[in-house]
Amino acid sequence: MPSRVWMYANYHCNIQCTYCLTESGPKVAQRALSPETMLAVAEQARELGFTDLGVTGGETFLMPHMPDTLAALSANLPVVALTNGTLFSRRLLAKVEHLAECDVALQISLDRPDADVNDEMRAPDNFRKVTQAIPDLVERGITVRIATTVESIEDNELDRLCALHRDLGVPDSEHIIRPIVRRGRADTEDLGVEAVASDLPSELTITDDGAFWGPFGPTVKDGVLDTDLLVTRTTLPLETPARALLGLLEGRPEGADSTLNIR
Ligand code: SF4
Repeated sequence: MPSRVWMYANYHCNIQCTYCLTESGPKVAQRALSPETMLAVAEQARELGFTDLGVTGGETFLMPHMPDTLAALSANLPVVALTNGTLFSRRLLAKVEHLAECDVALQISLDRPDADVNDEMRAPDNFRKVTQAIPDLVERGITVRIATTVESIEDNELDRLCALHRDLGVPDSEHIIRPIVRRGRADTEDLGVEAVASDLPSELTITDDGAFWGPFGPTVKDGVLDTDLLVTRTTLPLETPARALLGLLEGRPEGADSTLNIR
């Protein structure tokens, strides 16, 4: 059984990236999980033998409860939380400071070493905000991981990006590079690689609408939630979707996981 359980904390976002799998943006429905549900998922995941938690969105830090919820989740299992890294004002930095004492890593998107190219697919001023937030978080002792999502990247550009993340205080071991997956807005924009279930990492993923095959499952296209990778509408008790996912995995050939290096 895959070891991580993901939760979609929310679907709305302060920005609107061109390749967003969930068509997130400021005006979309929140589809939020309550902190109580997130905590119940974490507790039951631990009891069922899962070893890690992931929290994604939308922009997770639009949820005011997020700093405290991440700390509470991490009392159960180690957490990686995805964020676009654009909301870390002094006020929010003060609120997340205690995460340095918790088993929480923040995964921040940074795609390119040049501001203009990076911001093309993300948002104006994105590069400046992100490259300011990362050292602010690192200074406070918070683990930061950088995710680079690209169709392709030249060696020279990648070298400069890696030099940049090292300068910002993030080691190579905390840098992941992944392709754009052709779902959601990426599909509308004709971007990314086609992926079917066997190409995608299978990690039980809980949303307000049900449980999915993995974090690339509960995507949104033309305002409608994709259900091709829906496992169960029931999310709690967690044992129900966990058993259903296990049933699906048992029919899957060994070694077929994540063939496109999507993570
Ligand atoms: S990719 Fe992330 S940061 Fe960009 S719009 Fe989607 S949720 Fe927001």
